[in-house]
Amino acid sequence: MSYFIYPERGVYHLPKKNILVLSCIDLRLTDNLLEFLHFDNLTNRYDHFALAGTSLMTQAENPKLTILLDHAKLESGIKSYKNWNEVWRDHVRIAIALHDIRDVYIIEHEDCGAYQNFLTKEALADGEHSCHVKFSKALAKELHQFQVDDQTTVTLNVHCFLLDLRGNIEHLYSIHDKDLPSLASAKE
Ligand SMILES: [Zn+2]
Repeated sequence: MSYFIYPERGVYHLPKKNILVLSCIDLRLTDNLLEFLHFDNLTNRYDHFALAGTSLMTQAENPKLTILLDHAKLESGIKSYKNWNEVWRDHVRIAIALHDIRDVYIIEHEDCGAYQNFLTKEALADGEHSCHVKFSKALAKELHQFQVDDQTTVTLNVHCFLLDLRGNIEHLYSIHDKDLPSLASAKE
């Protein structure tokens, strides 16, 4: 039995195949992240990619979200941040090609240094939590119909979560293949 609070059954479709995990690099929560993946019966069934800020910098050029980022600070601190979306997408392609992944878990976390350092004051006025929702949800929507190459699009189920500093998981959003049965409790 886990000590942690996890999403209830039926909130999202549990992955039946391999998955890709995107997380932050934060070292405080590595064990908590693994515990949650094991709870979802994903032991050794995931590729794992980590970016400081999880989804944050993948949306640096999203026309709706770019205004929320402090680009001057980013340019002096993280020179390649505008390429992170492309680097991430390359890894999604690799995970599809090597392991036939069908689901992506985007696991954001509370008290994220990247969110605190690289969002504008105005953006943070709404609170860090609402920023995690905005950025991870935008990335999820972008990944759902994933273009592998000019001829191939793969439908991915994408799930966004927030890990708190005690290791609890909050489900933020999921976007599923439309052929899966609908979930009464799904958040859209
Ligand atoms: Zn972080």
